[in-house]
Parts: sequence; structure tokens; C-alpha cells
Amino acid sequence: MRQKIDYGIDLGTTNSSIARMEKGVPVIKKSETLKDTIPSCVHFNRKQDTAVGDSAMNMFKAELKTSIINPRNSFVEFKRTMGTMHMYASSNMKREFLSEELSAEVLKKLKSFIHDENVQSVVITHPAKFTIPQCEATKKAASLAGFKQVRLIQEPIAAAIAYGINEKSENGYWLVFDFGGGTFDIALVKSYDGFLSLKDSDGDNYLGGKNIDYAIITDLFFPYLKEHYAMSRILNDEMQKEALKSILKPYAEELKINLSFEQTYNILSNIGDIPFKDENGEEIELDMEVTRDMLKKVTEPIFQKAINITAGILKRNHLSEPDIATLILVGGPTLSPILREMIASQITSKINYSIDPITAVAKGAAIYASTIDNEFFNEIRDKNKLQLVLTYQSFSSELEEMVSFKIQNSETVKDNLFLEITRGDKAWKSNKIQFKDITKAVLCEVLLSTEHNGYNEFFINVFDQEGNRIECQPTQFSISHGSSGSDPILPYNIGIARFYEDENEPLFYPIKGLEKNQRYPVTGTVRHLTLRQSIRPGVEEDIVRIPVYQGDYNAEGTKLDLNNKVYDIIINGDDIPQLIPNGSPLDITIKIDENQVMSFTAFFPEINYSYQTRVEVKSVDPPEKERLKEKLSLIEKKVCDIDDDTLFKNVLSLKTDLNMLGNNVDDRLCFLDSLRKTMLSLDKYEKDNEWRVVENELREALNDLKNFHSTIENDVTIEETLKRDVRPIITNYERKVEQLCKSQNVKVGRQYVREIFVYQVELHNRIHHNELFIEWIYNFSTNLDNTDWIDKNKAHELIQKSINKIENGDSVSAKKDFFQIQSLLKVQNIMPEIPK
Ligand code: ADP
Ligand code: MG
Repeated sequence: MRQKIDYGIDLGTTNSSIARMEKGVPVIKKSETLKDTIPSCVHFNRKQDTAVGDSAMNMFKAELKTSIINPRNSFVEFKRTMGTMHMYASSNMKREFLSEELSAEVLKKLKSFIHDENVQSVVITHPAKFTIPQCEATKKAASLAGFKQVRLIQEPIAAAIAYGINEKSENGYWLVFDFGGGTFDIALVKSYDGFLSLKDSDGDNYLGGKNIDYAIITDLFFPYLKEHYAMSRILNDEMQKEALKSILKPYAEELKINLSFEQTYNILSNIGDIPFKDENGEEIELDMEVTRDMLKKVTEPIFQKAINITAGILKRNHLSEPDIATLILVGGPTLSPILREMIASQITSKINYSIDPITAVAKGAAIYASTIDNEFFNEIRDKNKLQLVLTYQSFSSELEEMVSFKIQNSETVKDNLFLEITRGDKAWKSNKIQFKDITKAVLCEVLLSTEHNGYNEFFINVFDQEGNRIECQPTQFSISHGSSGSDPILPYNIGIARFYEDENEPLFYPIKGLEKNQRYPVTGTVRHLTLRQSIRPGVEEDIVRIPVYQGDYNAEGTKLDLNNKVYDIIINGDDIPQLIPNGSPLDITIKIDENQVMSFTAFFPEINYSYQTRVEVKSVDPPEKERLKEKLSLIEKKVCDIDDDTLFKNVLSLKTDLNMLGNNVDDRLCFLDSLRKTMLSLDKYEKDNEWRVVENELREALNDLKNFHSTIENDVTIEETLKRDVRPIITNYERKVEQLCKSQNVKVGRQYVREIFVYQVELHNRIHHNELFIEWIYNFSTNLDNTDWIDKNKAHELIQKSINKIENGDSVSAKKDFFQIQSLLKVQNIMPEIPK
């Protein structure tokens, strides 16, 4: 039984693989046909047997040829619909499958490559941009495949870890560029003295090799077919066009892959291979010579999207080319020289592919797995033996590492026990360390060797006072000398839908503590929410609904439509012990633990009651095509009113995309993603423009105020105390305006323009009327006897003195007296009112 998880799986859109740690090295466990990866493809045959991998892929291709509509018993790319309710119907099985059920078949197949033990614990990778429902679906797939302990880690982090143990010396920033079959991920990793830490990640869930295949079909194959066959009606029919696309996809892939290694390639279909006739009944065939340059034209715009995201991540982290130590290539399409050239010319020439781009992720996952305790190790503990609990780092960049040993069943063992650790090569042994108090842990510093790839095995021996060996468990552990791994991080900002002040619709409100790039476990609290209706105990219909969303960069205050809904947290009357009236305060806390399980607590301070629940993440389907159409026409209307070329072009291409869109979940998700990107640019455009106007007004108001302020400062007749009062207020306005120019909050900006203006008027009035004090001194004098003084004599004395001063023209000094006189009044604050 393994003490650590040790198994890592790359559950890819196109290909999947499994790796295991063996003596400190990740080893890919090969398929029955001795391949490193298997296609992520599932087929159900007529006998209701399930085939997965290469054989399923062959069936998939065969089905394409025999059926004009989509194959109905072979399935691929189901990872793209993870986390949705999309069902894949199999006619042979007479039932439908969810994406996670098909993924579970792939996982079971990978598990079958392990012959020597029963695997219960595993690390599975997922794209950096996977949403919470998508991660949840991945965990479900694992549990359907019989795994009992599952940890997830982002694919690019796994890849970085795989490089981490090899590239010990590369200090600096690493970019992990993972372009797969259906997704693109980019991760920025900092490597420092053998320690890897993930700084930032980004990506596109709908960008991958598949997009290239379809671009080849539409931009190269379709024009060819139009030229040689009567195709116009067929290509105008959405159904037929889709069917033809599926049939041509393997040819596009063949062409693409070959052009990674050659300058020209002749793509040729055998007669009858493409079961498709043109409008004159002629069977169609492909026979075209394609050059790498032709492919380049077609693929460049797709690769460019990935490069732009990469440039974006560098920009927002204020990094440039010289800061990058290396760019690691991961994923099949990174074998393309076209892409490599583009990266070299636009990002960096320090490109690294020393680990096979196809298996780097699984290897890194296994390394990460070797740092996590196997939960099932406890199950095989033999109570008759001395049970030790070890705490240590599985990877260390140091040559000495501290290991702690604690006796678990200390109540059943003798006193005076000694521990001795021996390294596997016998070249190092610890002293005998005494368990002075057997209920407490002892520490042992072990010495690592850099031999054998840095893999160090250690044997544990426990002796009693007479030197007799005591049987213990475990008897051994291992530490590898290399970079410490990086942990998975929160890929999105988690927040709730909330009404902002003055806004008439709820917007995305990110929760502090649950920001993107935090290391798990994470906790975030929102205080002082207000109930908008009362909840009666036991009344199920009385509910509070708190929609939880996940958003990306700059998502704060954005429209909910731009963010991904995770879950609606619902509290109803059944969850509370007593009436909570409308308007009551409410604090909520969301926690996500290292297993990425989300839990939620609502606290009602008025009754000092907490309600806690685990968040069951549900699958979320994208909107139907009709709804997408409505959304697009709303955007179109707005874009027509403004003068922005890029936005206009975006909308035009969205319209074309929508016309060609099938109504399947994957296409809709992909479309929604592009739609959101345009919505976001439109939002930004509107905000920027609005802000520009507000910023001008704001700066003008501030300048006016500052000019007026300098006249005050230069006026010797103005009271110093007043000047002292005004100065911090002016500074404060200056600071606030600067802050606002950064946050660009239009609403608050407008408020401030008003506020600055009002203040200037007030100040003006105050100064203009400040001669009023003279009147008041005479007033005090006439009313001396019928006023309540703290010290009447002193008041009288001061009043006389200041009247003398006024009469001698010394009003500055008289004014000082006035404030003193005023402070002698029993009823304070009867200063003359400053008219507004
Ligand atoms: P995933 O991680 O999504 O499972 P992979 O990293 O296995 O994907 O990459 C699969 C993609 O790589 C497919 O689109 C495939 O066509 C493409 N691919 C594989 N080999 C090459 C190559 N030599 N040149 C270009 N693309 C390739
Ligand atoms: Mg991959």
C-alpha cells in the first residue's frame, strides 16, 4: 500500500494518459498496444460491450463513413461538455450518457493499465479555465470510475511540476503554453531556488487543435470541393454541412499533422471513403496538394488568439521578454513549426520541449500525487504493530530535510523507544533518537543524496531499550531531491450577485479572500448583507436566494451575464430556528477546501445563529440558440450607435457564427464564450467613454477648488484656524480624485463633482461672512447679563479687550478673542450659522 497517492491522470479532450511514481520518477503506464496515450473516445457495440481508446477511435471513424448523421455509438470530445446536462445517446445501449459518465469509461480504461495493484487514489488534471461545475463533473467521473480519493490540479501547473524536477537551475519566470485538442491554457510560474509557485494563469476553453481542423475544412477543403463538385446547395444546408464537416475532420487532422513535419502534403481520400455525393450524384473525393504556407494562412488567426492571451498575461504581470526564463510547450498542436515560429517572433525564442509535450501533464500529475498522503494507508494499519505518522516534504531542493515521527497508538506501546533512519544506499544513517515522551513527535533531519535522479529511499527502524527491534508501520519513506511542487490554485474570482448602491440590477461582487490565484484552502466572508424579506421558521416557501458566480479579471461590478453561475445558495424557513425579520443583517462565508469542496455558512447576527451547508455544484447548460440570438441583437443595437470598428467587426462575425451554429451544447458554449468577450469589450467601451467625460468634470472642479484655496492661503486676513481646517480637506479631495481616476467609477465620480462644488460654495460663504464675528462681539457685550457664562468676569474682560482691538483695526487678533469668548458660553455651539 502506497503512503502517497502516486498516480496522475491527464484526462484530455483528445488524448488521455496515466503515470505513476516509481523510485522518484514519473513513469507513463502504457496501453495494451504499448502507446503512451489513448484517444479519449468511447464506443458501445451491439453486444453492449464498451470499448475505449484506439479501438473505440477506429469504430468512430468507421461510423463516420457509414452514417450521414453523427455517429451514435462512438463518442469523442465529451470533455468539452463537462459540467453541462448534455446527453450523448447511444442506440446500442438504448440510453443516454452524461459527459462525466463517458469520461469515467476513459478513467477505468487507464486504471486497467495498472496490473500490480488496486488504485483507489488519484490526481486528475483539468484545464486552468475549467469552471467549478466542470471540476465537479471531473470529480464525479472519478468516483464513477471507482476512485475513492481524488485530487484535482490544473494541467499547466502539472506540466510545470514535470519540468520542475528536471530544470533545477532555471530561476525566473516560466510560461507553460498548453495548446491541446480543445482547450488552451497558459500559466505563469515563478521558479526560485528550486521552489515553484504559480503566479497567474489564463486560457480559452474553446481554443484547440479542433479549431484548426475545422478551419482547414472551411478554408481549404470547402473551396476545393466547390471548385470540383456541385456543392452550393449542400453547403447552404446546415445539417448536411455539419455532417460533411465530421466526415472530413480526420482528413484535416491528417493534413495538419503531416504538415508539421513536411513542407507539402497531398491529402488524398480513397474512392468511397467519403460517403457523400454532390448535387449531381457524383461521389466526392479529396485530392489536393497543400503547402505549409497555405496551412499557415488558415491556422495563424487561431494560434494568434493563444499568443494574444500569452502577451496579455505578461502585460498584466508587468513582465517582458527578458524576464522569461523559459516557455514550456505542452499539447499536440505545439509540435507545429508554424506555432513555434509565431511564439519565437512574438513572445520568446527560449522555447522548451525537452519533455514530450503529449505526456508532460500526466507526469507532473504523478509527481504532485507523490506529495499527497494516501487516505487509505490508515486502513491497512495493523494495530499490533507500532504505528507511525510521518510528516515531511516529498520533494526538497535542500540537501537536508526534517521529518517528524509520531506514534499513533502510543497508549499500547512501551516507554523508552528509539528511532533510527537509514538511507537506501546505506551511505547515511541517523543517530538513535529517543522518544522521550511517547505521546509527542520526534524530529529527525535526514540527509539527501543527488544520485539516482535525486531519489532517496529511507528505512525506519524502532528499537526498545534492550536494542530489540519493534515491528512498525510504515517501514520506509522516500524524498526526492528536486523542485518542490506547486499547489493548485483558485482559477477564478468567486463572488455573489449583489445590488450595488444606485444600481438597478444586481452585479457581480467578488468576495474578498476568494480572489483568483489563491492557494487552496480559501475562505471569504461578506458581511452586512440585508434580508429583503422575512423568513418564518419551518416555512419552506420563505427563501433567501444567494446566487454564486465565478468571474475573471476586472469582473467586479460587471453584469451577471458576463460571469459563470456556479450555484444558487438557498436558505429557507426549514433551516432557521426562529423568525428572521425583513431587513435583518446577514453575513455569509464561503469556504473551498484543498479537495475543492465548497461549503457555505450564513450567520444571522441578530439571533446569533449559523446555518451551514455543503454546496452541491450542479451542471449548468448554456442558453438556447434563440436566447443567444436575442442577446446578440441587443448588443448589435448598441454597437450600431457607436463608432468603433473592432466592435462592429466582432458583431458581424458573431452574426455569421450564429447563423452557422448547430444547436448542440458544445457549439453554444463556444458561441457564448465569444459573445461574452464582445459584451465585455462593449461594456469597457461604454465605461471608458462615460468615464472620460466624468474625469474631465472632476479635474475641473478640483482645479477650481484648488485655485480658490490658494487665494485663501495668501489672504492674511483669514483666520489661521480656518486655513488649518481647510488644508486636509483639500488634500483629501486631491487624493480621492486620484483614486477615482484609477478605479474609474463613474457613479462615485459624478457624486464627487457635486460634492467638490458644494464644498467650494460653502467655503466661499464662510469666508465671505466671517466678518459676522464683529457683530457677534457687540452682541455679546449688550447681552452680557442675560447670557449663561461659564466665567462671566472673564467673558466681560475679553469682550472689552476685543472691542478695543476692533476699534483699533486689529480684527485678526479680535477674531481669536471671539473664539475664546465663544468657548466661555455655557451653551456651546451658538456660532452664527453660515448661510448656504
Ligand atoms: P488534449 O490535451 O486536448 O487531449 P493533446 O495535447 O493530446 O490534446 O493534443 C491533441 C491535438 O493535437 C489534436 O488536435 C491533434 O490533431 C493535435 N496534434 C497531434 N500531433 C500534432 C502535430 N504533430 N502537429 C500538429 N498538431 C498535432
Ligand atoms: Mg492536454
